[in-house]
Amino acid sequence: MNTHVSSNVLTVIDKFTGEHIGDVPVASVDDVDRAVRDAERAFPAWSQTPAHERSRVLRRAAALIESQGEALTTTIAREAGKAWKHAAGEIARSVETFVFAAEEAKRIHGETVPMDASPSGEGRIGFYLRMPMGVIAAITPFNFPLNLVAHKVAPALAAGNTLVLKPAEETPLTAVALAAILAEAGLPDGAFRVVHGEGPTTGEALVRHPVPAKISFTGSPPVGRLITSIAGLKRVTLELGNNSGTIVEPDADLARAIPRCVMSSFANAGQVCISLQRLYVHEEIAAPFLREFVRQTEALRVGNPLDRACDVGPLISDDAADRAERWIREAETEGATIETGGRREGRVIWPTVLTGTRPEMKVMCQEAFAPLVSIVTYGDFDEALRLVGDSPYGLQAGVYTRDLQKAFAAVRRLDVGGVMVNDTSIFRVDHMPYGGNRMSGIGREGVRFAIEEMTNMRMVVIRP
Ligand code: NAD
Repeated sequence: MNTHVSSNVLTVIDKFTGEHIGDVPVASVDDVDRAVRDAERAFPAWSQTPAHERSRVLRRAAALIESQGEALTTTIAREAGKAWKHAAGEIARSVETFVFAAEEAKRIHGETVPMDASPSGEGRIGFYLRMPMGVIAAITPFNFPLNLVAHKVAPALAAGNTLVLKPAEETPLTAVALAAILAEAGLPDGAFRVVHGEGPTTGEALVRHPVPAKISFTGSPPVGRLITSIAGLKRVTLELGNNSGTIVEPDADLARAIPRCVMSSFANAGQVCISLQRLYVHEEIAAPFLREFVRQTEALRVGNPLDRACDVGPLISDDAADRAERWIREAETEGATIETGGRREGRVIWPTVLTGTRPEMKVMCQEAFAPLVSIVTYGDFDEALRLVGDSPYGLQAGVYTRDLQKAFAAVRRLDVGGVMVNDTSIFRVDHMPYGGNRMSGIGREGVRFAIEEMTNMRMVVIRP
């Protein structure tokens, strides 16, 4: 168990030790309604607050996140089980996300429209503005308890919206800390409310509430699908999962590629939506690549996330560790080889490298969200592209090659939200457009792009 819900309290534990580290109140349907009404009441004033003032609040929030970095890192390391160095990295990225939002708040603008392109428009002046939408309902997953919350909160506030957040029930404490930071930064009361609880109760109450103009969701595809079915006419952005692939061609710089692929497979114990799960390595380099990959994997430090040298901590729950273990055993039974890993202690699964996997195995065709990677050998680049693309998901993919023709073939042919050349699927900075196609979601985040999705165009036509 990670969380325990009694009638009205959500108990949060340290995911490595199991120690009780905090409680948050569970929001009932009435509590959700109160939070949404608060945000609705706060909207007129916040939406009319000048851009430079909204920007200042966001900048102050960024500074406060930075100055409270150590405490926030500890909270994330404990409630999410994220290795200290990666939790610290998440803090640094969240600071950037808020700074980007502070900058973007000052440049939210429309453009003019050449009205006389139509005979009916002759003599008119036209332009559009980008207007805040109202209350945004945000629902977030456990794996980045601060930065994925920041990706909703910061652009929403930058654009002049107010919002209600339901963070993952496994990791609510970081969101509570962020709410305090925003209040201290000068955000008016009501502009940001946090409600806690489980998805099917508190989460659904928020999605079904009539007031929010938009649902911004990050999480798993089944929940994303459910949300679209109950959201009614609200605009919906969905950031969902992936079983990311990366190709390594024989001309790749292996000294750079191998450590990067190892990190991409096992950071945050593989619980990253763009974790490297399917690694396609050309047959010419496959043997030395695998040897070195396994050596570097075995050098990773596994264990307590609070250990500053830890590379791989626990999975978020017993259920998640059970599932990962089951999938690994199933692959082995079906003929795969465990080159290293496969071991489990509590919620910790040792970084696992598999070979001999086939496309129909769960470790290949479903999202693993665990520290495991399959290394698959190929002979022909077109075939490797086909294999990476053979997925219902389409978030990001990577290709290591010095051959421009091949790099551009990947860019053209992979139906994904982002193609990383000479990097793996895991690369992201917080101002780039980020999101997936097909089962990986709808819409894009990345501060400026989230702002576009959190504003309505208002067309103005003037007949002088
Ligand atoms: P999840 O879908 O189980 O939960 C995400 C959030 O949705 C939680 O807050 C949960 O309480 C809520 N929820 C669950 N059921 C709900 C319902 N019926 N109505 C409303 N809300 C509901 O996902 P998770 O296990 O927390 O996170 C892992 C998933 O998130 C993976 O699939 C991963 O790929 C995805 N993810 C995607 C991105 C991205 O940017 N594309 C980033 C991180 C994680």
